[in-house]
Amino acid sequence: MSPAAENLQRPLPTPVPGCPFCQIVSGELAASIVWETDLVVAFRDIAPAAPIHVLLVPREHLPDALSLGESHADLLVDLAVVARSVAEAEGVASSGFRLVFNVGDDGGNTVSHLHMHLLGGRPMTWPPG
Ligand code: 5GP
Ligand code: ZN
Repeated sequence: MSPAAENLQRPLPTPVPGCPFCQIVSGELAASIVWETDLVVAFRDIAPAAPIHVLLVPREHLPDALSLGESHADLLVDLAVVARSVAEAEGVASSGFRLVFNVGDDGGNTVSHLHMHLLGGRPMTWPPG
């Protein structure tokens, strides 16, 4: 597994008060963490929608995918690499899985801290509900 929080090479991000994912990143709120890098923390969803349901969040608080820009190239690459690492570690890389960003009300977004869902362990249907 990649570096623990105490070995981070970057300054700790400023948590947004009341944000549950900032609290998980800082350790204030417990979560089942499955992967960590300097930029990203991955943890199990508290209400899993599939046998494997992991959330990949940036340590930095960004509201959603609309907040991403050219300055986030490192973060986007890290999200993709962590997704592959988690999929392999969870045993779904071969069977397949789904990566999802929910954005806004119609997208079903409920937590305003950018997160990528990694869902797997069962066949997914399309189109999504
Ligand atoms: P969204 O609907 O915003 O795309 O996804 C938010 C996800 O975060 C949901 O799947 C929900 O179950 C999960 N979630 C919300 N609060 C917590 C929490 O405190 N801990 C964990 N591990 N997951 C959470
Ligand atoms: Zn946050």
